[in-house]
Amino acid sequence: MGKIKKIAVMTSGGDSPGMNAAIRSVVRTCAYYKTECIGVYRGYQGMIEGDFTTLTARNVNNIINKGGTILKSARSDEFRTPAGRKKAYEQLKEHNIDGLVVIGGDGSFTGGVIFNKEHNFPVIGIPGTIDNDIFGTSHTIGYDTALNTAVEAIDKIRDTASSHNRLFFVEVMGRDAGFIALNAGVGAGAEEILIPEENLGLERLLESLLKSRRSGKSSSIVVVAEGDKSGKNVFELAKYVEDNMPEYDVRVSVLGHMQRGGSPSCFDRVLASRLGVKAVEILIDNKTNLMVGLKNNIVITTDLEEAITGGHEINKELLRVSDIMST
Ligand code: ATP
Repeated sequence: MGKIKKIAVMTSGGDSPGMNAAIRSVVRTCAYYKTECIGVYRGYQGMIEGDFTTLTARNVNNIINKGGTILKSARSDEFRTPAGRKKAYEQLKEHNIDGLVVIGGDGSFTGGVIFNKEHNFPVIGIPGTIDNDIFGTSHTIGYDTALNTAVEAIDKIRDTASSHNRLFFVEVMGRDAGFIALNAGVGAGAEEILIPEENLGLERLLESLLKSRRSGKSSSIVVVAEGDKSGKNVFELAKYVEDNMPEYDVRVSVLGHMQRGGSPSCFDRVLASRLGVKAVEILIDNKTNLMVGLKNNIVITTDLEEAITGGHEINKELLRVSDIMST
């Protein structure tokens, strides 16, 4: 592999707060090491189309605090085909780019691994997703902000729930991972938390709500991850409880995309800055197919393929804490 002189950076898949802080970090680290930096608009689709822009240290002023991504994000079906990836490779070569930093989730990393194998092109991943479902890092960029957004929203729902003695089902994001539901649930004092990793069963839900009512609680909040294992969506769950416990006044609130937006938390800004520096440094050091992440507050690298396939484990201790807290 020759010397890396020009690096491309892009954001791909679902956007997350802190992606801009990561772009800023990559661009400024490139400037620090006197390496050219190119921004790719709209993820892999923009790469195929050659939708590039030169980024200098001054082009990323005042974005550290901004949600979303200045480079835009996209999903590209064309990149899933060998012909699409060949076009992308040709665009990179035409622009004399010799390394790529992908900020995104597991899908974006899968694309990166395949691209590297096919074209022997250096790729480094930075985990940017609110779901926190990536192996090799304790935190993904955007997760902390999404958690805080969810907790703030649930706090507000609690105010109205307790004024009317209501039971609220609050759906938070997480199709395959319960990190947001579990942590926001504990943080906001939810009575029950339903996540994709554990099936508590509907009987247990009713029992828990009954216990909560008997113990004199005036309102209840059940936090439900999008992909919880109960087999019912949040509206069906609410109906099930209403049918079985007619004494409850049940309401549903779906937090939805608000969890993706907003100004990133200080934690996410610092994380993004740290991971951006490391990503560029290892690329310049001729490393490839790695993801940068955080473990025990130290920046580490993990094989990009392992980051995708390594799986994610929910913190069982947190489930126990949640149980005890709902006494
Ligand atoms: P999030 O977890 O936030 O949704 P993500 O990075 O997992 O983010 P995806 O939509 O799964 O988002 O993937 C983003 C893009 O990566 C896809 O649109 C596609 O272009 C590329 N990609 C995903 N899987 C593959 C694959 N198997 N082969 C080639 N490209 C892929």
